[in-house]
Formats: sequence, C-alpha cells, structure tokens
Amino acid sequence: MTVSEALAAAAARLAAVSDTPRLDAELLMAHAFDASRDDVLLARLAEPAPAAFEPLVRRRLAQEPIAYITGRRAFWTIDLAVGPGVLIPRPDSETLIEAAVAHFGRAGPGRVLDLGTGSGALLLAALDQWPGALGHGRDASAEALAVAAGNADRLGLAARASFSLGDWGEGLTGPFDLVLCNPPYVEEGAHLPPGVRDWEPAAALYAGADGLDDYRRLAPEIARLLSPQGLACVEIGATQATAAGALFEAQGLGASVRKDLAGRDRCLVLRR
Ligand code: GLN
Repeated sequence: MTVSEALAAAAARLAAVSDTPRLDAELLMAHAFDASRDDVLLARLAEPAPAAFEPLVRRRLAQEPIAYITGRRAFWTIDLAVGPGVLIPRPDSETLIEAAVAHFGRAGPGRVLDLGTGSGALLLAALDQWPGALGHGRDASAEALAVAAGNADRLGLAARASFSLGDWGEGLTGPFDLVLCNPPYVEEGAHLPPGVRDWEPAAALYAGADGLDDYRRLAPEIARLLSPQGLACVEIGATQATAAGALFEAQGLGASVRKDLAGRDRCLVLRR
C-alpha cells in the first residue's frame, strides 16, 4: 500500500473514534516517518507506507489521544513533550497567555508563577514570550514536574525556570507579577469524551461536586502571592465565571472574564 492509500484507509477507520480522522491519520503517518506532516503530504504520498504506521492507528482506535501517541503538542509559540502523566495543553488555555500579553505588552512581567504547571505549557509560553521574565512552576505531581523540567531544558528556558513539588501556593513566597493557573474544574461525574476520561490524569481534571473545589483553595493563595500591579489569569469552565469569580472577589481581587476563540468564558483576569 502507498502512503496515499494507507492514509485514506486509516481515515475511514478513524472516523469511528475521531472528529478529525484525516488529520489524525496524517499526524500518525508523519510520526511513523519521523518527519513533518508537510513533508509527508508534499513528498512521500507515492512511497510504500511504513510498517510503523498500523500500530499507531490501532492505538488511536483505542481512543488514545494523538498527543500521547506522538509525544508532542504545540502550544502558543512552543512545542512541548507530553505524556500520560500530564494534561495535554489545549488551545483554549492560550486565552490566558493572550490576557497576559494584553496587560503586559512588550515589557512583560518580572516574576511569573504557574500553579499546576503540568507539562509546563503556560509557564514556558510566558518565558518564551518575554525574554526578561523569570518563572516558577508548581505541581503536586512529581511526574508532571519531570515533564515540565524536560520541556524547559529542550526549549532553552531552564536558566529562567525553577520548579517545586507541592500543593498550590503552599510555602511559596511572592510577590509574582503574573500568576497563571489552569486548575482542575470538571464536576465529579460530568461526561467527558473517552479520549479525555480514559487517558488524561484525573487529578488534572476533576474538582469536586461543583468543579469549584480548587478555586476555593486557590483564591486566598493567589490573593497572597500577587504583586500590587500584578495580574492573575485563571482558567475556568464555560459556565463557572460568576461562581469562581465570586470566590476571588471575596479575597479582595477584582475579576473580569476573557472569552476563548469559540466565544466561551475561559479566563478569569484578576487584579488587586
Ligand atoms: N478543558 C478541559 C476539558 O474539559 C478541562 C481542563 C481542566 O479541568 N483544567 O477537557
């Protein structure tokens, strides 16, 4: 079978599990060749399909996310290594970086804190955006911190990034000019697509019966750690702006909401 034929056949099978079957097939083919998707589409369609392709298709048919199969995901201006121990960075979360860029412009923040850094996506996107910034990533998972530190290294950002294991802001000393945070916010028992539910870390997704448990913990911590002119950008679920915002306002912070590209409430923008 040629690459072209194998892509068509795989896309037809993947339609049963994915909304983007052709794209998935192309990304898996690129991974099988250890080449870019452009390279596959522009130069390799008439070649024989590599043997490594079919096992990758089988993994995707079992709902495994593409990012875990390829081990990579693009976020903002950077490319991150990801694996089953960390949440896969989502385009929605770029809303937090957009809000920070709108506030700080080119000058940028001095000190950046990312609470629940996971793969390091938000922290490393901020450090890549602002070459003068220093950042700290906090996570309760040692496995996540190892992924984040590896990403900092690969991206040449390790000299400006530090990491610590722990629970939200516990034991950290501010002030931070920019606090970024994508906490768990899914209601316990809520329906999630199988690729998320069965593959991504539950600790990064679920936050109690109303999905607000972690905002309750974060509100006093962020109020304590934020500098007087600082900004905190906290991701929320699309229906949580009022309830989550009230928790931060009760700690003396001003809250506004920024929407994602789909027009859904996605980011609480918090100031003193
Ligand atoms: N937006 C994610 C999802 O529903 C949830 C991420 C999170 O809880 N921080 O897939």
